[in-house]
Amino acid sequence: MIGAPLDLERENARLENATPEERLAFAAERFGEDLLFTSSFGAQSGVLLHMWSVVCRELPVTFIDTGFLFDETLLYRNELTDRLGLDVRVVRPDVAHDAFVASYGSEIQKTDPDFCCGVNKVAPIAPLKEAARAWVSGLRRDQSRTRADVAILETEGHLVRVHPLATLTTFDIAAYLAQHRIPEHPMVARRYLSIGCAPCTRAVADGEDERAGRWAGSTKTECGLHARPDAGTPSRADR
Ligand code: SF4
Repeated sequence: MIGAPLDLERENARLENATPEERLAFAAERFGEDLLFTSSFGAQSGVLLHMWSVVCRELPVTFIDTGFLFDETLLYRNELTDRLGLDVRVVRPDVAHDAFVASYGSEIQKTDPDFCCGVNKVAPIAPLKEAARAWVSGLRRDQSRTRADVAILETEGHLVRVHPLATLTTFDIAAYLAQHRIPEHPMVARRYLSIGCAPCTRAVADGEDERAGRWAGSTKTECGLHARPDAGTPSRADR
């Protein structure tokens, strides 16, 4: 049904009670090769990556290598890529790590994290977003207060954002990983429950949001990829 009007409000109501796999299948059927999927290969990425390998096996996974990631994340990416048979496409910033640090200093993540994320995360993915019609990512409502209202389908400019895991809880994620024998990111055992770049990630304490270790000590809560500027206003759209 590519090309027919997509009624986001109606589809959101229908997909709210669907399984994550059914939500993913809907997006794959609707958008085909115009469906962008980005994964950080972070703490809970194994769930959506496994679903992708079952429902969307022929479509690629995009991974943004900012140059500031933990070595454990790169090893985990390699492990899951092999185990799940994924087609992972790596995108990198135009300015490599060493040149970036030489230009802006080793404290840039503290002094201007929005600029750093803009150069190293947001800009590399921009051409792929421009070319896509929809974008799948693993946002969930129970990850943090800023994601508590995330819808299955949202709009961001010309894109339809697709969040198949929106309704899953931390418990659901753990149960799925165990059921399918998917290895955890190795840093989860050290209470890194949300894992981004090394300079901007710490372990979380009991009782904290799982994303509390991201940009801790600053007011920043999102890298800019998932800022959801017009979230919560589902409407009728031709996509
Ligand atoms: S998460 Fe930190 S290191 Fe990574 S791009 Fe953003 S500010 Fe830079």
